[in-house]
Amino acid sequence: MKLLIFIFLLSVSSVCTSKPAANQWATVTQPTKTSDSTQSIGTYTAGCLRSAVSLPANGTGYQLMRLSRERYYGHPDLIRFIENIAWTTAIQYRSVLLIGDLGQARGGPMSSGHRSHQTGLDVDIWYLLSQTAATRSLGFDERETWSSPSVLAAKSDAIDSSQWSLTHEKVLEAAARMPEVERIFVHPSVKRQLCTRKTTHDWLRKIRPWWGHDDHFHVRLKCPKNNHDCRGQEPIPEGDGCDASLYWWFSAEAKAEALAPKKPAPRPLLPPQCDAVLNE
Ligand SMILES: [Zn+2]
Repeated sequence: MKLLIFIFLLSVSSVCTSKPAANQWATVTQPTKTSDSTQSIGTYTAGCLRSAVSLPANGTGYQLMRLSRERYYGHPDLIRFIENIAWTTAIQYRSVLLIGDLGQARGGPMSSGHRSHQTGLDVDIWYLLSQTAATRSLGFDERETWSSPSVLAAKSDAIDSSQWSLTHEKVLEAAARMPEVERIFVHPSVKRQLCTRKTTHDWLRKIRPWWGHDDHFHVRLKCPKNNHDCRGQEPIPEGDGCDASLYWWFSAEAKAEALAPKKPAPRPLLPPQCDAVLNE
């Protein structure tokens, strides 16, 4: 089990960690225009995006946050996914999703905040279901300065019931059931919360526990059809994950690992096709 978990940690050490560094990908502000079909190239943690499209700042059931970062580009499949899950959230649950980072104009590594989000197939969605956002469009400053509260009770791994609702569970279920969704990263406590539901659990397989992710969830799409240079991830283990592999995250061993100082991982090389994407 330890070995499996170690392999898992290595293979998905892809989620939101920080390492500031200057890089050219962060300074290019326009997508490439040379190809009419968008291509996700490489892996979630070492890749890029040709002919990205942008998510509008507002749509039915969602508002985009942190506009100044300009991390609102993605593959059209990702834009469509966000619009669909937001529509469901608005029509069925009368709520509005606050959308965090997608990717940069040409994908690629960011100078801060994430290791993945490089191929236009990842998006962070806040857990905060704001009443204010449900009644009006948020101003630029509000989108810059609001923060997303943790859904955990202070200094514990218990879900804070004042920050959690059945709507959260329904939205996560609806997202996980969408066939284009590859996996969704949530805090282990969120996964545990979902595992206690009495409904069928087939969709829960895609909900993956990972550190952080207590103030947002991270949706990752599969490689789109006909994106031949897109590289997916190793398959999710069998079963719904409501088992010992989940309860490991609450063990003393896991907590010690979370607190241990992290060595900065060397930045993986991007596929050669990304040179052309950057320099076009
Ligand atoms: Zn993320």
